[in-house]
Amino acid sequence: MKNISILGATGSVGTQALNVIEANPELYRVLALTGHANANLLIEQALKFKPLMVVITDESKYQTVKAALSGTNIKVLAGEAALCEAAALDGVDLVLTAIVGSVGLSPTIAAIKAGKDIALANKETLVVAGDLITTLAREHNVNIIPVDSEHSAIFQCLVGESTAAIEKIYLTASGGPFRGKDRSFLENVTKAQALKHPNWVMGAKITIDSASLMNKGLEVIEAKWLFNLEVDQIDVIVHPQSIVHSLVQFNDGSMKAQMGLPDMNLPIHYALAYPDRISSDFKRFNFMDYPELNFYQADQETFRNLDLAYTALRKGGNMPCIINAANEVVVEAFLQDRIGFLQMSDVIASCMDGMEFIEKPSLNNYLETDMHTRIFAGQLVTN
Ligand code: NAD
Ligand code: MG
Repeated sequence: MKNISILGATGSVGTQALNVIEANPELYRVLALTGHANANLLIEQALKFKPLMVVITDESKYQTVKAALSGTNIKVLAGEAALCEAAALDGVDLVLTAIVGSVGLSPTIAAIKAGKDIALANKETLVVAGDLITTLAREHNVNIIPVDSEHSAIFQCLVGESTAAIEKIYLTASGGPFRGKDRSFLENVTKAQALKHPNWVMGAKITIDSASLMNKGLEVIEAKWLFNLEVDQIDVIVHPQSIVHSLVQFNDGSMKAQMGLPDMNLPIHYALAYPDRISSDFKRFNFMDYPELNFYQADQETFRNLDLAYTALRKGGNMPCIINAANEVVVEAFLQDRIGFLQMSDVIASCMDGMEFIEKPSLNNYLETDMHTRIFAGQLVTN
């Protein structure tokens, strides 16, 4: 029996993880659940899975959750700081980080320090402070098991292999809803168009990131830290069908790919069960539905974000933290119709130029960079 804490239980990854857990009650028990704004769903989940603790990070919803769970033994906490309690709770074996954004950093650190294995969906944590997180995980002998489908693919391809034998990896990208479009088209696209992902149903932020290719940029950085690679060992290839989830090329020229239907249940299921592989009744792939699989070069001139992410990773230090914070601000602004699609990259680039560069940041430097970049990006958006 694995005891699990889910940070971000009410989101797209969180709810799918609870479905996986519900289907395997003899394998998993939920000890903690957290949610931000959707108090009703969090209450419903708490009544169903009976965890020891729930955290509602939006403090204005605390009374609602507390009252609804008053007849139970479930401890109810509120606020961002309480995420660390849910992450480090006694008895928890595995923490699924399914929160969106850099707010996931502190609870992930708390979980690692408490010796919990991490099933990592919250890629922003590795983008912001990949060096600190991976060092800490080594020191505490903690596994970080990727949930992101591309990284789960690489992770699965590496079972039984030595990372020293990796020549390079290819992260596949669907290309999103605007694949093949030019800048004049992108100039006027709306959030409704950007939110229509061809292959995946996900939270709003990652869906916009997928349309702008920032998601792939963040994933390049995530891969660097998860698999301890050099920047030049990480390539991106556009694959519109999202069947090949990513590939490893080894030093003898051999390549391994992990494939399957585009369904996040699979990588979630794998991460929860790791190191075992357990059966599921998820829909199976049928070759006749996919007579062709296509691969294309990514268009980094039209979709500048991918290029900016590579530049940030090459520069190192707090630069990935800067692009992440700037990106969180511009995506929110785009979702509120406050800036245009192409402007998002312009603001991110201005933040990369305008923010103070720190070569070897401490945790505090990262937290400050995150905060200061948000303020700077916020001003650029309003101007
Ligand atoms: P989502 O928006 O559907 O859910 C986000 C979760 O985080 C919710 O539970 C929400 O309550 C919580 N949250 C939001 N703001 C918060 C805050 N300020 N403090 C605390 N909690 C907060 O997002 P998602 O699509 O499930 O994505 C979650 C993470 O997983 C992201 O980092 C994303 O990049 C990654 N990811 C998602 C998918 C996917 O298919 N959805 C795939 C790969 C990776
Ligand atoms: Mg992904």
